[in-house]
Amino acid sequence: MKVLVINCGSSSLKFQLINSEDDSVLAKGLCERIGMAGSRLVYSPAAQEKEIINEDMQNHKKAVELVIAALTDKNKGVIESLSDVDAVGHRIVHGGEKFAGSVCIDDEVIEAIEACNDLAPLHNPANLIGILSCRELMPDTPMVAVFDTAFHQTMPAKAYLYGLPYRYYENYKVRRYGFHGTSHSFVSEKTAQLLGKPYEELKTIVCHLGNGASICAVKGGKSVDTSMGLTPLEGLIMGTRSGSIDPAIVEFIADKENKTVEDVMNLLNKESGVLGLSGIGSDFRDIMEAMDKGDERAKLTLDAYCYQVVKYIGAYTAAMNGVDAIAFTAGLGENNSYVRKKICEYLDYLGVKIDDTQNEKRGEDVIISTADSKVKVLVVPTNEELKIAKETLSQIKS
Ligand code: ADP
Repeated sequence: MKVLVINCGSSSLKFQLINSEDDSVLAKGLCERIGMAGSRLVYSPAAQEKEIINEDMQNHKKAVELVIAALTDKNKGVIESLSDVDAVGHRIVHGGEKFAGSVCIDDEVIEAIEACNDLAPLHNPANLIGILSCRELMPDTPMVAVFDTAFHQTMPAKAYLYGLPYRYYENYKVRRYGFHGTSHSFVSEKTAQLLGKPYEELKTIVCHLGNGASICAVKGGKSVDTSMGLTPLEGLIMGTRSGSIDPAIVEFIADKENKTVEDVMNLLNKESGVLGLSGIGSDFRDIMEAMDKGDERAKLTLDAYCYQVVKYIGAYTAAMNGVDAIAFTAGLGENNSYVRKKICEYLDYLGVKIDDTQNEKRGEDVIISTADSKVKVLVVPTNEELKIAKETLSQIKS
């Protein structure tokens, strides 16, 4: 079967067409600058050169139309017609407390996703536009919603409640939700497979380190705690996000610089983290390069970043009363051996030992700890699209 995976942002649309027979990607691509001047589709069919199609996309419906046209094109297409798409899987950022798993999309589900809009005002409305556009263009194709938050719905109340008046939870559902759930679920399950251990018995800490970054404690296949919160701003230092800070800083900066709360939130989301600390950029490759040239702030940024990861690993080891495996994933987790080594150097109290040759491998599942390391450390490339495709098929089959 063929599943079209759609990930809609406010001005972008990422897609992959996945063949479930062998999990291969038939084609993938990205529509950029939707609703703006200079919009384009970058289309990459598996067996051919990628192509850039410059065309006006006034809205997401037009973007989906272009994607379908490319997928069914006589020359560069990978399917004969739209009816070859058996199902569409949509990535949805926030499912609130309503969704603890993936669901087939109907009117009721659309309304329930809409009801979560105020929890993710930048993401959910865009995700919904993707659903509505696809429904208009392929009304007979089953569609499934896969939520970033769903995997974390197993967290106990003691982990998801903040120390705020309880009425804010009751009235507005202010609590920890966590994100990157598709990735944490995929990587923790894969970790168990790679170690040949039953998923139900393993205590794993997944470090999803990308531009956005979060850590998750997975006990017996269930998320029991995670570093992102009500929004994806909490937790680790990220590319441009501050991660956890003293909440009083918001008022302090607002007073000092005569800023509004909105200004400060913008600063915490877009000008902080690795970018803000280093003054160089948000991409770790640039930070590494600067550090190699002797830039002290770049080194400090890397030190502060790794130190935060290490503290979460310590906290989640305590929360689970132990840890069997630590898995690194996402852009930085998969590609940056320096950061992995630096983090693991702190962990000798857990009996972690790293094999430097294994740690240099890239682009594959690999155990980077030594045979006698008490806690196993792995690099597991994440594949959120494949996970969404699998969830989609399992929903439409049930
Ligand atoms: P996003 O959250 O946007 O999906 P990614 O998972 O792509 O982010 O992670 C981005 C980070 O990963 C960047 O800081 C970048 O330096 C690092 N990264 C991504 N790919 C590579 C690579 N091939 N080599 C080294 N670092 C990489």
